[in-house]
Amino acid sequence: MVLSSEASYIALKIQAETFVVAERREDAATTYEKIGMWKEAGELRRKIRSQVVTQVHVNMNDLIDQLRQMGLSATYACPSCRSPITVNGSTSPDKLAKCQFCGTVFSSTDLMEAITRVVGHH
Ligand SMILES: [Zn+2]
Repeated sequence: MVLSSEASYIALKIQAETFVVAERREDAATTYEKIGMWKEAGELRRKIRSQVVTQVHVNMNDLIDQLRQMGLSATYACPSCRSPITVNGSTSPDKLAKCQFCGTVFSSTDLMEAITRVVGHH
């Protein structure tokens, strides 16, 4: 039984490392916990906490930069009132925090997806 548990330990360790490469940090942390690698799990969780806010902002800036370079604009429909929100190279990321018509707070993930669709098609 020692052998098989060692094999599953190695399999889980490889899986955790694969999750890290794929930047699936929460999955990686959970997998590290299964094999008792608490230190690694904790380090990943610290990274998740510190990066969530800044990463979203940086990526949004990058996307707006891409729109500017390509001379494109993307339209995002407010999920609440359906007002079209136009994002182009001169849009400030701060203006994209919430709907200027109804005040609904936007999901930056959804917004970035909408912009990525436009950028990705060109
Ligand atoms: Zn709205």
